[in-house]
Amino acid sequence: MAFMTIRERFLDCLIGSDVDKIPVCSVTQTGTVELMEATGSYWPEAHYNPEKMATLAIGAHKIVGLEGVRYPFDGTDIGQALGCEIKNGTLDSQPSIYKSPCQTKEDALNFSISENILDSERLSTLLDATKIIRGRVGEDVPIIAGMVGPAAIATCIVGVTNYLMWCITNPEIIKHLLKIGTDICIDYSNALLEHGADAICIPDSESGPDLLPPSCFETLFLPLYKKISSNTTGPMILHMCGDATDILDSMAITGFEGLSIEEKVNTKYANDVIGKRACLIGNVAPVDILLSSQPSDVIKDAQRCMDDGVNILAPGCGLAPHTPTKNLKALVYARNEYYKN
Ligand SMILES: [Zn+2]
Repeated sequence: MAFMTIRERFLDCLIGSDVDKIPVCSVTQTGTVELMEATGSYWPEAHYNPEKMATLAIGAHKIVGLEGVRYPFDGTDIGQALGCEIKNGTLDSQPSIYKSPCQTKEDALNFSISENILDSERLSTLLDATKIIRGRVGEDVPIIAGMVGPAAIATCIVGVTNYLMWCITNPEIIKHLLKIGTDICIDYSNALLEHGADAICIPDSESGPDLLPPSCFETLFLPLYKKISSNTTGPMILHMCGDATDILDSMAITGFEGLSIEEKVNTKYANDVIGKRACLIGNVAPVDILLSSQPSDVIKDAQRCMDDGVNILAPGCGLAPHTPTKNLKALVYARNEYYKN
């Protein structure tokens, strides 16, 4: 096989083409305290300043060797643009939403977006960071932008308690919010792709079986993901936290090129269910292995993923801020060793 750049390999892998070896990268958050210290770019500033965001995100590629640059490091940006009030977070904790813009059913039913939220400060930061990253890493490195999905956006707007209750008792309210969220995801994804991102990863666990019955995924959410994938101009990745086993078959027909799953899902089973319908991404345990174990354990768990047939070797979810760099390097080492034999 002719030489390919890590960007070509990543993009080929996402669309199911044969590659010489599987990529090793992260499609979920990569900010760690050690990388902040190594790059001089720290949380919380790196969430709000495009230069600092770019510097920290590139650190995971340059210092660890992950074969891609992934940003941002949290999921409050769309929520804040929609009027949520947030806590800024600290060096080792992500920003969080503490007040949603809608408290009542009437508020939620009347909720609309008045201006172009792509012009809001938080989303402009991401668009600017995209350009900066592309300028700094050149054309050979894949850039993966993240954003929360429609279920998470609906949750931001009304708070988790109302979201869960109204999914069952007042689905018309939730459908109204999901439509707004879907439109945002499409416009924002296309803007990020235009600014230089190669792929968009959408974590949207609020639609998954950890919070709602699996039947909801098919009736309420599957049509939205299909709409997103058919109206976006680049490859899309759906990330599901928790145990997504019961919705794997539905996830495989969302039209998303990549499916990123946590370690609660058996990768061999996932590979059997998904087959060639999507690129399977995962799923080394971010807390039990990457944060809390030794490099030798990382190598073992990575081997398990590769034996089970993942198409991209990656952490199963966002990195914990205190994840040691040596464990992340072990992930890259494991992939390299796997192809020596
Ligand atoms: Zn996750």
